[in-house]
Amino acid sequence: MLKQRIAFIGLGTMGLPMARNLLKCGYEVTGYDVFESQLKLAVAAGARAASTPAAATADCDVLITMLPKARDVEAAILGPNGAYEGMRKGKIHIDSSTIEPSSTKRFSALATERGLRMLDAAVGKSSAAAIDGSLTFMVGCDEADLEEVRPILHAMGTTVYHCGPVGMGEVVKLVNNFISGGIVALVAEAVVLGAKAGADVKVIADVLKDTGAGNWQLENTFRQRVFRGAFEPGFKIRLMHKDAGLAHSMAAELGVPTPIFALVKEIYSTAMGRGLGDEDWGALTKLVEEASGVEARYAPVAAGMLKA
Ligand code: NAD
Repeated sequence: MLKQRIAFIGLGTMGLPMARNLLKCGYEVTGYDVFESQLKLAVAAGARAASTPAAATADCDVLITMLPKARDVEAAILGPNGAYEGMRKGKIHIDSSTIEPSSTKRFSALATERGLRMLDAAVGKSSAAAIDGSLTFMVGCDEADLEEVRPILHAMGTTVYHCGPVGMGEVVKLVNNFISGGIVALVAEAVVLGAKAGADVKVIADVLKDTGAGNWQLENTFRQRVFRGAFEPGFKIRLMHKDAGLAHSMAAELGVPTPIFALVKEIYSTAMGRGLGDEDWGALTKLVEEASGVEARYAPVAAGMLKA
């Protein structure tokens, strides 16, 4: 069977390596990003460049969007020269951005009106997993649509979960980030507390590996980044701040009390106010470090270690 031709819109921290992995697996990819420099990086990897979203989708079977917010997805698909203008009936749109489930459902209904199919395939794990093709996808759609795009998702990730109908991938993703955003905030406080009390943060991380307090964020966000003084993203604080707002709204709409998460959300708002929005979410640690006058570090970052 011929591989589907892919239009990829949003070639940032996640989208660029995802597009590169599609190219490595033999897919034809036409890319579009509002930042010319990102588009050039995709072209260097073998993608074709499009000058508008509509031009990207003119010849495609599947559109993938990997954009910051719902309003960016809306601009890309429905704005002037939007991607849906270029798409022929029956084609599929996969949105991997983390956005509110209600927007996903609205976009899906608008796609259906145009004879298109739209599904959410939200992404779990980190930018490192986007680079090595080991992402987890949380998918909301009909079973049949998932089977049609499953090989595409496996070109970018190792695990694909069917979470339910359209929008349910985003629900699971927001639950995921509700927890992981809270863990980052809690670990930041704990390791700075340990450092202030004179403990070596490497010893803390080594010991906790074998206890119930050990967790992925400590081993990755902290051991690989924070403890080395490396704060380039990764996952930007502004994106987690957005996801905190989405999860908080979902809880408010559904009448679920989330007092602990309300505090977590405020911590991300504080970090935004301190101008840390474009740094990795591990930079939350800086707030605690500044307040307590001690740094949680044990090794400098090697040159270029975190570059995509
Ligand atoms: P990013 O900010 O690094 O990249 C977004 C890209 O989209 C940028 O290159 C930007 O120029 C482009 N863009 C913005 N608006 C556009 C438009 N209208 N048309 C075309 N291009 C546009 O963000 P990211 O880290 O790649 O995250 C993308 C999405 O994936 C977000 O919703 C985020 O919450 C989610 N996510 C991120 C991670 C992570 O670790 N970074 C993990 C899982 C999910």
